[in-house]
Order: sequence, then structure tokens, then C-alpha cells
Amino acid sequence: MAKVISGKDLAKKIKEDIAAKVPELTAKYGRAPHLAVILVGEDPASQSYVKSKGKDAEQVGYRSTTIRLPEDTPESKLLEIIDELNKDEQTDGILVQLPVPAHIDEDRIIEAIAKEKDVDGFHPANVAALWQKRDCVYPCTPKGVIRMLDEAGVEIAGKRAVVIGRSNIVGLPMAKMLLDRNATVTIAHSRTANLAEVTREADILVAAVGRLRMVKADLVKPGAVVIDVGVNRDPETGKLAGDVDYQEVEPIASVITPVPGGVGPMTRACLMENTLECYLNSQDKK
Ligand code: NDP
Repeated sequence: MAKVISGKDLAKKIKEDIAAKVPELTAKYGRAPHLAVILVGEDPASQSYVKSKGKDAEQVGYRSTTIRLPEDTPESKLLEIIDELNKDEQTDGILVQLPVPAHIDEDRIIEAIAKEKDVDGFHPANVAALWQKRDCVYPCTPKGVIRMLDEAGVEIAGKRAVVIGRSNIVGLPMAKMLLDRNATVTIAHSRTANLAEVTREADILVAAVGRLRMVKADLVKPGAVVIDVGVNRDPETGKLAGDVDYQEVEPIASVITPVPGGVGPMTRACLMENTLECYLNSQDKK
């Protein structure tokens, strides 16, 4: 039976810690941290993510602004709004909910957000800083995973870690952050030959694929720590489920994260942390 890391509980604790600090900071600096979230279009999943982020921000005592734009918003209009927020001294964090509609260039949008306000940690300058081991805003999902591993008392240094997935927002920064904690890291992807042979080497296995229950017991070394980043909708039940077949893998893993209630809430808690960091950095510069 694996130890289950509740991202929900840890996220609650992180948010409570932030909420406890906010009144004092608000008194000291004359205003609360402010997170601005922009949503273009009406994708139901994105709407729900944006709503949760706004709710979290309010819960911890931040000022929260959600800017909802119609699906056909021109890229130029979105860039204009980002520019205004960049210049606004009362805004600490800017997040554009991804994906944006196809007529908008996602890379251009990410680059337009001032790197000091890039609470997602997606700006190329932040990405470069991460890979060069310089000060950066850490992307929320891998940051949340590392926090969960630490909370569970998992030793990362010297361990063999395998990350399945190599996206810019999850797989690659995840691998880099594990590497920076002195794990020996392998990145697997859709072209990996004999995936099971690779993943069965892992002491720490992170699945960030987006394929419902693809990680079966035969992909997992007994006693491994298994982190499930994937969020998928089970077509049979309509419920959310991960990339890991929890029923099969939980009995053989030493530590596992559930979906829902695992990495997802931690991603949002780390977004709150990043917003606080951006706020403190901007106040320090004054
Ligand atoms: P992407 O689609 O950008 O990347 C998926 C990765 O999985 C790719 O690198 C792809 O390989 C790899 N892959 C696809 N099929 C296979 C396969 N059969 N075997 C091995 N590797 C495969 O997704 P994201 O990284 O954006 O997200 C991954 C998952 O994490 C999704 O379910 C997403 O919803 C979830 N997510 C969850 C978050 C949270 O807070 N919990 C936050 C962000 C994402 P290749 O590069 O070769 O195409």
C-alpha cells in the first residue's frame, strides 16, 4: 500500500501560510498582492481553471482580477491589455490562461508578459534562467511536484527519476528541477522505444502525458514513487482521472499522488506563492 500524498491538504496549508502573511504585508506596503488572470474564449475547462485561480487568490487575501475576453478577440487587443497590466504598478502577477484561440500566437503572448510579472514562469527569460540555475519564477506544476516530494520525505538526490512527457510547461522543467535536486533524470516521450524498460528503472516516476490510465503496473518498479500530473476525463464516468492507473499502481508504489486532489491543487498553491514572490520583488525594488 502506497503512502498517498494529498496535494489538496498540502495546498491548503500553503495557502493558509500565505493568508496569514498578507494582512501584515498589506499594512506594510499599502496594498495587497494583485493577480490578474486573462481568459480568451469560453472553453469550459479553462473557465473552471480561471474561476479556481480567482477563488484561491481571494482566499489568501489577494486582490484578484479576471478579464474575460470573447473568442474572437484580436491578438493586438490582447497584447494591448497585457501592456497596460505590465505598466500598472498595482498589478503583480499576470496570467493568460492557455491555450489561447488558434488565431492568437501563444508564444507572442507569453513573451509579452513582463518577466517580473510572469507568475506562470513561462516567459523565455524565466525559462532560460531556470536552465542556467539563476533566479527565476519556477513554473507552478513542477514546483508543486517538488514540494509534494519534499513533504512526503522523498529523498531526490542520487535517485533515478523518469519523466514521461517533454512539454515546455511540465515535462522539461520537471526534469530540470529534478536534475537540480541531483536526481539522475531520463525524459521519455511518444517516440521512446520500449517505454516500460525505461520507466521500470525509475525510483521516481512522473507521468505528464495526458493519456487516461496509460501507466499500468507493468511500467512501474515496485517501491517507486509515482507522481501523476495528467488530467483526463474518463469518457465512461465523466470524472477526472490521471495518467496513472491508480488501482493497479497504488499497491506496488511506495508513494503516489491521486487525481483529482494531487498535483492540480498544488499547481494553484504554487501560483499563489509565485504571485507573492513577484509582489515582494516589486516592493523591494521601490
Ligand atoms: P503535452 O500534450 O504538451 O505533452 C504531452 C507529452 O506526452 C509529450 O511530450 C508527448 O511526447 C508525451 N506522450 C504522448 N503520448 C505518449 C506515449 N504514448 N508515451 C510516452 N509519452 C507520450 O501535455 P502537457 O505537458 O501540457 O500536459 C500533460 C498532462 O498534464 C495533461 O494531462 C495536462 O492536462 C496535465 N497538466 C496538469 C496540470 C496540473 O496542474 N495537474 C498542469 C498542466 C498540465 P512527444 O513530445 O513526443 O509528443
